[in-house]
Amino acid sequence: MQHWSAPLGADRRVRVVVTDRSDGDLSINGDPHDLAVRRLAITDQPWLWLRQVHGAEVLMVRPDDDIAGLVGTCADAAVTSRSDLVLCAQSADCATIALWSPEGVVAAVHAGWRGLQAGVVGATAASMRAAGATELMAFTGPSIGPECYEFGGAELDSMVAAFDASIVARTRSGAVGLDVRAALAIELLRHDIDRVGGVDSCTACEADHFWSHRARVDQERQALLCWIES
Ligand SMILES: [Zn+2]
Repeated sequence: MQHWSAPLGADRRVRVVVTDRSDGDLSINGDPHDLAVRRLAITDQPWLWLRQVHGAEVLMVRPDDDIAGLVGTCADAAVTSRSDLVLCAQSADCATIALWSPEGVVAAVHAGWRGLQAGVVGATAASMRAAGATELMAFTGPSIGPECYEFGGAELDSMVAAFDASIVARTRSGAVGLDVRAALAIELLRHDIDRVGGVDSCTACEADHFWSHRARVDQERQALLCWIES
């Protein structure tokens, strides 16, 4: 796994972790006991994992909410100001994003092409600002690179319409491809979010470290985690 952190005001930090194959499969469809062991090896805080549906639904976790009752909610992003839980997003090729503000509002987002087009980044930013966030910063997880992501037809046309032609790429084999990172960069700019770090690895190229559904039909998932350390 890779660790990263940044200050939140004077006395707290946001912690971001990007897992890889060596941390084990974090797909929510795995054996619950195995998952619990793997999660505990990464952090002993309760994990708020979501059933990701490639949409723009955002779960806001409020001070009095029972975490156990929210685990498994259908959503692609979670937002909180609490420091007693871990937010996470699982993926094989889709982008994942940790977001935070100096006020201590944090979020974890699952953002593949469908989620980006559905507006999950903007919906998350709006939820964070409604919770008191001012300046928003981002750390992005690994995703499939444009050189490996063959894409086309009506789906590509819809992405060009939603973003611009800069998201059209060429794969290593010369086919038309999609640059998910370019679409993500446009979304971050649109919603006034400053990307200050990330893991730029390609999940398809780096087979030793990451799972890829597109490249290898892997069913396993890595995760991006985000939480407040106080
Ligand atoms: Zn690649």
